[in-house]
Amino acid sequence: MHGPFEEQAARVAELVGKRPTQCPCETGHPTDREAVTGLLDEADSARKAGDIEALRGHLTRLLGPCPAAPTRAAVMRDIVKPPQKG
Ligand SMILES: [Zn+2]
Repeated sequence: MHGPFEEQAARVAELVGKRPTQCPCETGHPTDREAVTGLLDEADSARKAGDIEALRGHLTRLLGPCPAAPTRAAVMRDIVKPPQKG
């Protein structure tokens, strides 16, 4: 659950357009379709191999806090639910 401050901060950031669309983090969060799908594949492989540490790293990049998180989320939504025609 988000507090009122986070909500306001997010709204202001949206209004002023200060949100970067490219990840500036050292971690390297994916912000394009290719990077997200690649990472999802890697996470899936790590899960199947039982490599919890690798899986955790992949999930951190997929889900961890990032200034470009809205861009990443939009890419994920697009992957999960392809754009509909009409
Ligand atoms: Zn980032």
